[in-house]
Amino acid sequence: MNELEKMVLNEGSVLDNGVLKVDHFINHQVDPTLMEEIAKDFASVFQNKGITKVLTIESSGIAPALMTAKELNVPLIILKKQPSKVLYQDLFQTVVSSFTKETSYELTMAKNLLTEEDHVLIIDDFLAYGEAAAGAVRLIHMSHATVAGAGILIEKTFQGGRDKLKELGVMVYSQVRIEKMEKGNIVLAKERI
Ligand code: 5GP
Repeated sequence: MNELEKMVLNEGSVLDNGVLKVDHFINHQVDPTLMEEIAKDFASVFQNKGITKVLTIESSGIAPALMTAKELNVPLIILKKQPSKVLYQDLFQTVVSSFTKETSYELTMAKNLLTEEDHVLIIDDFLAYGEAAAGAVRLIHMSHATVAGAGILIEKTFQGGRDKLKELGVMVYSQVRIEKMEKGNIVLAKERI
């Protein structure tokens, strides 16, 4: 069992609406040593894939994505959930529905950050229904860049995100896979893929 799996089982708390709270080590308070281990694991999986940039979605993906970008020695792109009129004129945008917030937002990226030469690794904290990651894939494709894969900290296999990304031709690697969860009980999938 890896360290993140142990943390999820010991410190994660399951909310009624199919949401896992990981505020003590990922979302609100961040454990840097854990992030470093997570990044090294992603780097070992993706290091020979010709990745030119790591990309994540603000805000919870930033800590593990930054550490992974450092390991792979490439820049990190942070997709915005709101357009910044001050910083950028030319934006790619796509609408994403948010599972945890029960709303939707415009995922936004400046047009000049990626080119067709780029091969991009997506990193995010959770894979649930795959809406956020699919939005990231759409923005990468709008730039004519290619997707190397998606590195996920915690996948909830019962919400179908992996299939959604597979339909888009995106390979997913998850460090923790939750097969089932209810209050006081989290069941991990046997296979880590
Ligand atoms: P999806 O788009 O795959 O349905 O959801 C992914 C996004 O929603 C992630 O970026 C994450 O921020 C948030 N999310 C989804 N499920 C959970 C969860 O169980 N716990 C937390 N804390 N965030 C989640």
